Formats: sequence, structure tokens, C-alpha cells
Amino acid sequence: MSTINRQWILKQRPSGFVDQDTFEYRESDCPQPNIDAGEVLIKTLYLSFDPAMRGWMDDKPSYLPPVGIGEPMRASGVGQVIASGHPGFPKGSLITGLLSWQEYILLDSTSAEQLHILPEGTEPSMALSAFGGTSMTAYFGLLDVGQPKAGDTVLVSGAAGATGSVVCQIAKLKGCKVIGIAGAADKCAWLKTECGVDETIDYSNEDVAAKLAELAPLGINVFFDNVGGSILEAGIEHMAEHSSIVLCGSISAYNDTEHSPGPSNLMLLIARRIRMQGFIMLDYLSRIDEFNAEFGSWFMEGKIKTQEDIQEGFDNIPTTLVRLFTGKNKGKQLLKLAEPQ
Ligand code: NAP
Repeated sequence: MSTINRQWILKQRPSGFVDQDTFEYRESDCPQPNIDAGEVLIKTLYLSFDPAMRGWMDDKPSYLPPVGIGEPMRASGVGQVIASGHPGFPKGSLITGLLSWQEYILLDSTSAEQLHILPEGTEPSMALSAFGGTSMTAYFGLLDVGQPKAGDTVLVSGAAGATGSVVCQIAKLKGCKVIGIAGAADKCAWLKTECGVDETIDYSNEDVAAKLAELAPLGINVFFDNVGGSILEAGIEHMAEHSSIVLCGSISAYNDTEHSPGPSNLMLLIARRIRMQGFIMLDYLSRIDEFNAEFGSWFMEGKIKTQEDIQEGFDNIPTTLVRLFTGKNKGKQLLKLAEPQ
């Protein structure tokens, strides 16, 4: 075990996109656990990169407190317990939970209780991809909030991403016609050939509103929106009467320096009796067994495919986050630091 703990700390709150001044590389001594006090020392193996991390850097009220200046950046991850005084997390266990951008993390006995032990035989990366938060978001957001019925037309933005691609495939399993919007021709091709999506729109090359008029002449019944902005506005324009919009994310606005105006066509929600509802996946953690049972069997039967985009190297952590906002990621964005021992 190294005696040095490498870290990326939040140096200053970004205005707009993160840049080379947002994070600072630091080395500190590797923390020593107090076993008698129940402390747990974790070695980070995989980090997850999530668009929401951009919001955690802002000093604004949200569903989690902002990351403090000078603290290692918060991130979901998978790690291995290398020393422990907590009976629930013995040495050698693989865990997942909220970790941070550092090689070694010391948790007190109470903080360790937010961690989950990986089921025996689980590939570490899969705890963050196929069986991670984005799949849970897709499952509960579509089925609980969107409530599609067989025969419905379901529109998904950010469709080739970790969340969106799972939404598309669950909607297909439920007998829906699926239209996916993504930002590149190869992502659209992957959605059709691998995920069974019926129609795609490449928003970087095609007129989204015009294509929606052509592809959904009777209107959209459920719109799962990951993007916000002009794509949300175009979707609203083509919603059917008594339809639903699931507000999952608004990635097009996460780096805005000023509040961008909302959709100009919200009046359509009244005229067409459209329901629009936001949700946060964390509210569904108590229903994780339901997700594991149904989604797990779909996955094991090969009915759902997921894609992992695994970068490597401690130095590449900050630039890996940027990939989400430039559309470079192909599926769930991860970074590998080490293999379990
Ligand atoms: P992801 O979709 O795997 O990656 C982000 C994708 O967003 C990029 O690949 C890019 O795809 C697209 N994108 C980036 N900037 C964009 C822009 N300006 N306009 C349009 N598209 C843009 O990431 P994810 O983790 O699955 O998250 C997807 C969305 O779900 C995010 O909005 C996230 O905040 C949200 N989310 C919400 C919850 C919740 O509890 N509500 C939980 C997890 C995630 P293209 O190449 O197609 O542009």
C-alpha cells in the first residue's frame, strides 16, 4: 500500500464549464484508520462520472450539500476495504457508495454505513453501470413517473447516454414505439442496431421539431427528457393530449452562467392536459430490491444492453468529467484506478 494519498480537490467554484483552475492536484499522507473506533479505510477502484457533479460544485441549495472548497471532489465509486474496525465492512470487501477523487478514503463508523457491499461475483464496473444509479434512474423515472402503456410513442433525449439508452430499451420491453434523440450519427446508429430504437434524431445535424412532426404525427405520449433547453421545447410542441413529460435532467443548462429562459410553449401543458414531473433517483433507494429483481432478470436474459466508457489514470480524472458535457462519452462514463486485490 502506498504511503501517499493522491487527491483532486475543488480549488474554486467554476463559472460555466470546469477548466484547469477548478481542481488542484494534491498529495497527502495516506490516512491511518483507528480500528478500535470502528473506522474503515477504502482504496478507490472505479469512479463514476455524473452530470449532476457539476451542480455539486455550485454553492446553491440542492438535494446534496455543495462540495466544500479544498475538499476532494465527491463522486460515486467502487472501492475495496483495506483496513476496518466495522464488522459490517470486513477487510477485502468490495463496496459502492459516495466516495471522492482520492486514492484512499477514511470513513468513520457512521459514514461507512452509507456504503453497500457488492453482491458476490459482481464486476466492480457493473455496480456503477448496468446496476448503478443511471439504470435505476431510467427504471423508476420511466415506469413510476412516465408510466408508459403498450402502443405509446415514447421520446427520449440524451438517448445514447447511460440513462437514456436504458430508458429506450425498457420502453421497447413495454411495447412502446421509441424515438431517441442523440448528438452524433454513430450514437444514433448504435441506438437502432443495439438498443432496438425505432427512430432516431441526430440533433447536431437534423431539425428536431421537423423530424418529430414526421416521426410522431399522432403526438408523443411520454417524453423522458435528459437535456432541457431547445430540445425540451421541441418535445413539448409535439406532445399528445393527456401525455406525460418526465424531467430527469437538463444537461444543456448545467454550465450556464445565467438562468436561461424556460420553454416558451408551457401554455400547451394546459391546452393538452400534459403532466410534467421531475424526480430524483435517490427517493427510490428504498425500492432497490424491486429494481434488482426485475431489471436484473431483463439484464441476465440479454434484453437490456449497456455500454461502459472506461478511462484510466489518476491524472485524467478532471478531463474525464468534461467528456459528459462534450458528448465524448459512449455510454456510462467511468475511470479505473485499480483492480481489486
Ligand atoms: P450520459 O447521458 O451518459 O452523458 C451525458 C450526455 O449528455 C452526453 O453524452 C451528451 O450526449 C449529452 N449532452 C451533453 N451536453 C449536451 C447539450 N448541451 N445538449 C444536449 N445533450 C447534451 O449521462 P447520464 O449520467 O446518463 O445523465 C443523463 C441525464 O440524466 C443528465 O441530465 C443527468 O443530470 C440526469 N440524471 C438525473 C437523475 C435524477 O435522479 N433525476 C439521475 C441520474 C442522471 P449527446 O452526444 O447525445 O449530446
